[in-house]
Parts: sequence; C-alpha cells; structure tokens
Amino acid sequence: MALMITDECINCDVCEPECPNEAIFLGPEIYQIDPHKCTECVGHFDEPQCVQVCPVACIPVNPAFVETLFLTPSDQYQFVSGTFVREIATLGGDVSKFVSPSVLDRLRDRVKSTEP
Ligand code: SF4
Ligand code: SF4
Repeated sequence: MALMITDECINCDVCEPECPNEAIFLGPEIYQIDPHKCTECVGHFDEPQCVQVCPVACIPVNPAFVETLFLTPSDQYQFVSGTFVREIATLGGDVSKFVSPSVLDRLRDRVKSTEP
C-alpha cells in the first residue's frame, strides 16, 4: 500500500514536507517515495497529502505495493466464505451456486483426490 512519483514530477518541493511518514525524498533526478514508509496517509489523514498538493498530479498508486484487494460479492452471497464453500464441497454438498464452473471442476477434482 504505497504511492509512487512518476517522471512528470517538476521538483516543486511541495509534497515532501506534507508527508507524515517522511516517505518522500529527493532522488537523483526527481522526488521519490519510499514504498516501505508510505502508508497512503492512513491513520493520519483521510486523503493522501502528497496527492492533494501536487500541482501536476503525478502521484499514482504504486502497482508493486498493492497488498489488499476487496472483491465484494453480491448481497445474496455476502455470508459465504471460501472456507464454507470448501467444507460443503468436501462433505459432498452442491456449491454450484457459489462458484464459477471452472472453480467447481477444480473443487470436485480436489475432493476426489482426497477420498480414501
Ligand atoms: S501518501 Fe501520505 S504517506 Fe504516502 S508519500 Fe504521500 S504523503 Fe507520504
Ligand atoms: S508535488 Fe508533485 S511535482 Fe511537486 S515535487 Fe512532489 S511529486 Fe513532484
């Protein structure tokens, strides 16, 4: 969970003092963000402060440091977790409503391979 500075940075120096984690520093050519220090300002501010002040909008999410993706299921199946589905499948139950056909095939293969 970190942001990065692209080469569109104009070295205006505005973002560096705004960072609550001292994650921004001047690199060899442009400013950079230490991905191990950047928390996207979580715990300090509602919005990333560097993004708020950057005049050229050159601070996107660092794709190498995305740690969590939330995949929200439909309302109907919010109570279902992967553990439930696996357990039901292991006990021979029908989970075809909860998973895609390809996942269903793999689950069936796995159940078969664990049968005595
Ligand atoms: S998002 Fe926040 S913590 Fe990360 S570099 Fe910008 S100001 Fe610093
Ligand atoms: S505010 Fe934007 S343009 Fe200015 S130094 Fe920071 S990243 Fe570069």
